[in-house]
Formats: sequence, C-alpha cells, structure tokens
Amino acid sequence: MKKITIAIDGFSSTGKSTLAKQLAQKLQYVYVDSGAMYRAVALYALNHKLIIDKKLNKEILISHLPEIKVSFRYNELLKASEIYLNGDNVNTAIRTMEVSNSVSIVATVPEVRQQLVELQQEMGAHKGIVMDGRDIGTVVFPDAELKLFMTASADTRAQRRYDELIESGAEVTYQAVLENITSRDHIDSTREDSPLFKADDAIGIDNSNLNKEQQFEKVMKLVKSKL
Ligand code: C5P
Repeated sequence: MKKITIAIDGFSSTGKSTLAKQLAQKLQYVYVDSGAMYRAVALYALNHKLIIDKKLNKEILISHLPEIKVSFRYNELLKASEIYLNGDNVNTAIRTMEVSNSVSIVATVPEVRQQLVELQQEMGAHKGIVMDGRDIGTVVFPDAELKLFMTASADTRAQRRYDELIESGAEVTYQAVLENITSRDHIDSTREDSPLFKADDAIGIDNSNLNKEQQFEKVMKLVKSKL
C-alpha cells in the first residue's frame, strides 16, 4: 500500500504524541517525537552549564553542536523508540521541568534547528512516518500528504500535562505547569526561525472536547482519504 507522511503540529500538550503513536501503530509507520530531540539538546546545554538562570550561552552551544549526537533506538520490551544523547538513554531525563523550562530557548537557535531538521528529513526520506512537533508541516515536511494542527484550551492542556507529571512521580504544581506551557507557546510562536503556525493546508483539530478514541477515529478517516 502507498505510504504517506503525516505531520502533526500544535501547541504544547495538545495530545500530539498520543495521536501520533496511535497512528503509527495502526499504520505500521515510524513515529518520531521531534520535541524529544530539542529536549535532548536542552539537556546537553544544562549538563554543560550552558544555561544559567534561563540565560543560554548560544555561542558555546553552537560550537559544541558537532559533538551533540541525538538518535532513537527501538526498545523491544517497551515496544517503543527511546531517545539517546551521545550514546546515553535520556528518555526520562528529558521530561523534567528543568528541561521543559529551558527547551524553548534552545529551540530558538537557528544552528540547532538546522542540525535537527536535517536529521528529521533523513528519517522521513522514505515516507511511512508520523512526526509531531512545531514546524513539521511548515519546514520539515512541507510536502506531507496529511498535515494536522492540534489545539485545545490552555486549561485542558495544563491539566493533562499536570496529570501526566504527577503520575510519573514528579513534584509539581498545576500553576507551574500552566506557566511553563504558556511561556513555551509564546516563545515557540514568536521566534524568528520556524515559528509555530498552522500551515495553510493543515487541518485544524480542537480536541478540548474529544476523547482519544473519538479523535483517533476522526483522523483515521482523513488518513484513509489520502491513501
Ligand atoms: O513536543 P514537546 O512539547 O516535547 O517540545 C518541546 C519544545 O521543543 C517545544 O516547546 C519547542 O520549543 C521545541 N520544538 C520545536 N520544534 C519542534 C518540536 C519541538 O521548536 N519541531
């Protein structure tokens, strides 16, 4: 059967990755979480003390880029891909609030974006891929056959993220999560290089009042129309 590229963009915590995973599993496609790649670079910057008090030392980070290797490896037990930074599994380490609070600053750096976009385009060279992020339908795969742009109210999104973090054992407040989401959305949609916006040919999905199954069903109809 013909394989297509599915690009999913949208604001933070709109359920992009949940939908992307469902689609990839159903279609037997590769799933790539591009946000995890930016998070891995942010983790590198934090570990190397290149971010202090939310101030990033851009020049040094850019000079380190050739040494920053981000990759995914499939974990048979989890039946999912995990992200590696210079050979170390950082799948859990990239999900802390510290990384969440630094990642959008790192993602404004054009040199970082260029390096990661190249990798993303290589991963999608043979289609059969679902990738979620902020610039997938606009920059990474402008020719994707199906582009989705997901939205939900800020409260719905913050509550979802808060529930996930609490379930994973993190100690956070709802207010801190809401602030993080609002601040990232602002930086992501106002940065100069590859800001977050809905591509003209993307289909908007507001899932404030849709459960996962309803959303999946709706999107599978769109997928079938493209196959
Ligand atoms: O998807 P997630 O919320 O984990 O992404 C973390 C951050 O990475 C985003 O807030 C954004 O700053 C950055 N990002 C990006 N471009 C992408 C994916 C993520 O700038 N394609």
